This record gives sequence, structure tokens and C-alpha cells, in this order.
Amino acid sequence: MLEKMEILDAEKVIKEFEAMTKDAENVQKQTLKKILEENGSSEYLQNLGLDGRTDPESFKACVPLVTHTDLEPYIQRIADGPSAPILTGKPIPNISLSSGTTQGKPKFVPFNDELMETTLQIFRTSYAFRNREFPIQNGKALQFIYSSKQTKTKGGLFAGTATTNVFRNSQFKNAMKAMQSQCCSPDEVIFAPDFHQSLYCHLLCGLVFREEIQLVSSTFAHSIVHAFRTFEQVWEELCADIREGVLTSRITFSSVRSAMAKLLKPNPELADSIHRKCSGLSNWYGLIPELFPNVKYIYGIMTGSMEPYLKKLRHYAGDVPLLSADYGSSEGWIGANVNPKVPPESTTYAVLPNIGYFEFIPLKENAEEQVQDKVGASFISVEPKPVGLTEVKVGEEYEVIVTSVAGLYRYRLGDVVKVMGFHNSTPELKFICRRNLMLTVNIDKNTEKDLQLAVEEAAKLIAEEKLEVIDFSSHVDLWTDPGHYVIFWEISGEVSDQVLKECCNCLDRSFVDAGYVSSRKVNAIGPLELRVLRRGTFQKILDHYLGLGAAVSQFKTPRCVGPMNHKVLQILCDNVAKSCFSTAF
Ligand code: AMP
Repeated sequence: MLEKMEILDAEKVIKEFEAMTKDAENVQKQTLKKILEENGSSEYLQNLGLDGRTDPESFKACVPLVTHTDLEPYIQRIADGPSAPILTGKPIPNISLSSGTTQGKPKFVPFNDELMETTLQIFRTSYAFRNREFPIQNGKALQFIYSSKQTKTKGGLFAGTATTNVFRNSQFKNAMKAMQSQCCSPDEVIFAPDFHQSLYCHLLCGLVFREEIQLVSSTFAHSIVHAFRTFEQVWEELCADIREGVLTSRITFSSVRSAMAKLLKPNPELADSIHRKCSGLSNWYGLIPELFPNVKYIYGIMTGSMEPYLKKLRHYAGDVPLLSADYGSSEGWIGANVNPKVPPESTTYAVLPNIGYFEFIPLKENAEEQVQDKVGASFISVEPKPVGLTEVKVGEEYEVIVTSVAGLYRYRLGDVVKVMGFHNSTPELKFICRRNLMLTVNIDKNTEKDLQLAVEEAAKLIAEEKLEVIDFSSHVDLWTDPGHYVIFWEISGEVSDQVLKECCNCLDRSFVDAGYVSSRKVNAIGPLELRVLRRGTFQKILDHYLGLGAAVSQFKTPRCVGPMNHKVLQILCDNVAKSCFSTAF
């Protein structure tokens, strides 16, 4: 039925987007109405006394704000079966596993055809705008996409990461073809049971089709950097495979071997050419355009916790533009990047008013709730008052509330965004941070972004030694009295104790939050500790998450590791090579 392939009419998509965003308030009302009509028969909504009403006022009056914890029993029953209208009118066909970086374990969330359709709509929208500025020809995409393990729940539903559910959906491939962004790797590579083998073969496919590659992409920027760091290790082996036309014996899955055998022919010229190009590079600068001469851009989510990878990505990219992909989550999509020329550090996401019903908790007015969050109070005395999509104010920060097409109603996503402006009447959001990823000992409050800025500042000191921070994380150690911040760094080489000490002091001074500085001055927070990790520690953390069912495509390094996240904390603590304490205060 969907076999007929047509190139996407980008101008039509843009026209529809413009019309919809001019009428965002109305479209939101219609979207809520549709969601409530389609799911009004569900047990969840039936119990809330909506009695068929679908207007925003009744919805807000009857339906409480919830977190994942509140919905977990419902989702668990959906997963356990038998099929029943629990959260949605129609049965939920799949379960997604969100990356669960914060809590340390993946969360179950519902996935259905409607959510797939909104995913495609987001993809099409940003593609339409992107292609205006950076047109691609009918070539291929080197996509570092991977599948998670797919399991079956007790009730017989397939469970995998949201990206896996998307990649496996029959519509995905057609949509990619219509966007001239077809993956150069065969399915056997994308869905290989082992991601190391999958990655190796993605690289090999990219090289085989190097002249045709139009874009290099992944869901999150981390996987692109990870891929080219791996390339640095395996490039000679890749060249050998191309020269001989025989795949390395380290690829063991027969399905992958036979799919790759169809693509590989002995090609000594290509092998020599790649070898020459790689040998001529200085510290791998500009690797991507060197390998792929027709690449137009590099594409993936580059904001939020992905920002720390931009420096390395730019290094590999040379003068190829970096374009951030869209904003969403396993729970549902939110906004598209419709200003692709803007550099990733300033990227905003225009909310699509017809893919869900959105509300926003103003963080300024609900500061009290934040304080309670911070001290860990188990109850919230003040019910936060969210505002509607078109009521948000430029310059203000909000927590995002989603009512999705897949059975989540007034769901607190836990992300903090800032309104940077409006596209017609829909807001353009900048991703700020996860709300609960916060370093705090007493009155201090440092977000993931504050941590990132501090690390960037201190990393300049090792850059002088031609070293880089490969990845980082943090933890609040309350076992010491007073408690203190611990920052974990994996560094690309050996660093002297003297430089380490300077880095540690610099980190301590770079947290400029008034609560932190004043607490440090009176020693209500102890000296910051910098712990240097052995090489490969973050790979161990990645492997740990993969073991839990996560996929590399969706992986986000946990930046603040809480005490509940035992395993990751243990990996970090077991791999400390050396450490030092700040003397900055
Ligand atoms: P997951 O839990 O794997 O579904 O990941 C969803 C989370 O990833 C969101 O709630 C955000 O915290 C983060 N995220 C998704 N898209 C972006 C983006 N464009 N910029 C920054 N963070 C993002």
C-alpha cells in the first residue's frame, strides 16, 4: 500500500505548518478534543468524571497533573495484559523503554500508531525547512542508528526503545526515502544484536558508498562522536576489509555477514584512497568531509546534554554544518527545528500544535514547589498552575506537560525549557535541562547546564596540554560532613597532578550560583573533588545501560548520578585513577 514512493513535497509541508501555527490556540483545542474523544472510553479517563466533555477547562479541572510514577501501575497492566482500554480507547500495540538516564532504570511508556504518525510529522516538518536551506540530492545517509533488544512483555506486547519502535515501523523506511535520507546500511546492520558489530558495519557501508553520502546522522549527537572515535581505532581494519572485499572475522552474526557480503567487493583503489586521506589528516580534523566528499550536513539532537559533544563533532566535521534535530521524548514529540541555519547552541524548537496538547508550568511562579523538590519533600503543597501553549511568555522558563496521543494525560515530562520567541502563534522553545538533574547540598542549585559550563571552563586548562575531556559526570557526596560535589572526568591522556589541581580549583570557582559560592565560603559545602577515571569507564556505563535494554541511539550520559543509581555510581567509583580536592575557597 505504501510501496509507491514519492519525494516529499516540502513546500506543502511548510504551508501546512504555517497555517497550523497561525492558529495554534484553536488547533490545540481541536487536538485535545480529538484525543479525549478517541480515548474517552478508557478506564483512566472514565474515572475522572469528564463525562464526555472535551474542552480545556473541564480537562484541567478533572484531570490531575501526573508523573511517570503515578501512571506506572496503569502502564504495567497494559504490558501484562490482557488487552483492555486502560489509558487509550484502542489497545496499545507496543511499549517503549525510555532511556531512564535519570532514575537509572528504563521506564515503560505506551507507543501506538498515532505516536508513530506524530513522529513522522515532526521528521517531515524539520526536513522541509532543512531542505530549503541545505538541499540534498537523491543519495544516501550514513545513519548511526541501532536497535535495542526487543523483548515481549507478559501480555505479549513488543517492548523496545522508542527509536527501535520507530525504526522497525514499516512506515519509517518509506518516510526516509521520501526525505531522500535513506540509510546506507542494510536492515541486518541496523538491527544487529550487538551494537559494536552494528557500528563497525555502519562505518564500512558509509565508506563503500562514500561518494553518495549526503548526510551523516544519528538520533543524538553522542552516537556520531562515538562512531568517529571508534573509526579512529578501526580505520585500518576497515581499509583492509575494503581492499580484500572480505569482512573482518570479528563480525560474527551470519545475517550481518551475508548482508555485508552483498556490498563488499575487493576494491584496493578505494582502500588506498581512504588510507591516504586518513594518513594525511592532522589529529583527525575534518575527517567527515574527507571521507564523504558530498556530505551536506551532520544531523542529530545536539542541544541539552548533547552540547558537550559539539566541540569534538566540529573537529570531525571541519566546515560541514551541524544541524540539531528535533525535540521530543519516548512519551511524545514536542517541537521541530524550523530554523536549521541557527547553530546548535542556539537552536530552538517550534511546537507542533496538532501532535499533542501542551501545558507549561511557569518556574518563576512555582519557585516554592522547586524548593520543596530540592529538599526532597515527598508532598507538594502548592499545585502548580500550568499555562497553555499560546499563553507562555518570551524569556520565561517552564516545565513541559504533555497530553499525548498515546494515553498520557497532563504528564510532567520533567524537562525545563525557555521560550525564546514565537513562530506565528506557537512558541519556540530552547531546551534548558532536566528538572531533577540538579547538584545540591543545601541552598545551592546547579543544573546540568551549570555543570557543563564549569566543565568547559576547566577543560580549557587541559586543552593547553592537547588533552580533552572525553566525557564527564557528577555526584553529590553527602557522606562527608559537610557534603561536597564530586566531578568525574574521563580524559584522553595523562594529566599532571599540578594541572589536575588547577582544573579542580577552576571547577569549584566556575559554579557561580550564589547559594553555592556563599556555602563554599563558610564551608557549608566542602571542597569540590575531581576524580579522574580510567579510560573506557564511560563505555562501561554505556554497556551497562545497553544491558538494561537501552539503545545506543537514545543514550544520554547521566550527568548527575543520584544515590539511587547504584550501579552507575559503582562503575564510576570503581574506576577512579586519581583524585584531588579543591583549595579554591
Ligand atoms: P528518552 O527518555 O530517551 O525518551 O529521552 C527524552 C529526553 O531526551 C527528553 O525528555 C529530553 O530531556 C531529552 N531530549 C530530547 N530531545 C532533546 C533535544 N532536542 N534537546 C535536548 N534534549 C532533548
